[in-house]
Amino acid sequence: MSKRNFVCFKCHVAVRREPYSGDAVLCPECGQECYNIGYKIPVPPKSKPEEWKALREEYFRGRLQDTVDQDLGKVRRKHTLEKEIAKLEARPGNDGRTREIRRLQRQLERL
Ligand SMILES: [Zn+2]
Repeated sequence: MSKRNFVCFKCHVAVRREPYSGDAVLCPECGQECYNIGYKIPVPPKSKPEEWKALREEYFRGRLQDTVDQDLGKVRRKHTLEKEIAKLEARPGNDGRTREIRRLQRQLERL
């Protein structure tokens, strides 16, 4: 597994670490937690603050996009479950169906 670049956007410092050590990677200068930017994105030199700013914006835009995508997926999943439940409830009840409805409702609550 190749090492990842963990960066501190405040100090413009990068630390290379194994990606799955489990420990938070701390900035050697300010001690705050660094952000994992992977291994493909080049780390700008410390002398180029405008490149750091661009990297920071790109990073948070990317993170934001992931969150938006996750929310959309959640909404879609919720609608699917609600439809499935309504369909089952419209049919005559039996033990299997009641159990299935409960199972789907639990999934829905967890979303
Ligand atoms: Zn720092």
